[in-house]
Amino acid sequence: MTDLSVLALAFGVIPLAAIFLYSFRETIAVHREAVWGGLSGVIAFLALSHAMAFVLLDKGQLTFILGEAATTFFLFMGLGIGAVLGWFIFEGPLIRTEPSRIVWAATSFIALHSIADGLILGTDFVGALVPSVRIDALTVSATVIHRLAEGAIILIPVFAASWKPRGSFLVLIVAAVSIPAAYVPGFLFQTLPLADAAVTNIAVSTFLAAIEASFGLLLLVRGFLPIAMIDRGSRWPVWTALGFIGITLVHFFVE
Ligand SMILES: [Zn+2]
Repeated sequence: MTDLSVLALAFGVIPLAAIFLYSFRETIAVHREAVWGGLSGVIAFLALSHAMAFVLLDKGQLTFILGEAATTFFLFMGLGIGAVLGWFIFEGPLIRTEPSRIVWAATSFIALHSIADGLILGTDFVGALVPSVRIDALTVSATVIHRLAEGAIILIPVFAASWKPRGSFLVLIVAAVSIPAAYVPGFLFQTLPLADAAVTNIAVSTFLAAIEASFGLLLLVRGFLPIAMIDRGSRWPVWTALGFIGITLVHFFVE
């Protein structure tokens, strides 16, 4: 049987491997449209397609349990928190220099996203005798690409902000929050009555997805796209489309 601890660990540490990009800093810097444009497509998918799809799908389930008004208010809160958080990081007084704002926004986004990824992984292991996780060459490579791209979302702004390797690696570690998150569903189902555990599990992941969606929107339009467009070039839309379609194809084989 597939072991959750092995999968959770692998899943949590893959983004750290993106640190190899450090050797390609110069190449990355001269291909701004391709790199920032491509990652814009990836962020658009993760936030506006992937996370938002969870919000829309789970809304039905939550409405069934909590009722229409409570569910709408609950998800509205999540979307609002994501937007306020994004605004605060980009425009608030806490972080003063522009390159660092993008670093912290990207890091927070990947932290949120990694918790969500961990919860999905952990949920696959709840209750079932045989976990519904597929393991084959295709799924494994898709997962590796998916998690490396998430590492790159943190590292590209880090390079632009000229951070030292140690600082770069430290922020990259946030992606490993998927490891503890993978144990949350199991913990819920062990400690709460079945029905309560199921509701709490859906409510937590949907709330996080709502925060991720509106936060990711701001990271995209305030953080990544303006840099992709900085030279008023004509190639970044191509890269954005490629990034979006590429990460969508990758997700056909994960989760
Ligand atoms: Zn992910």
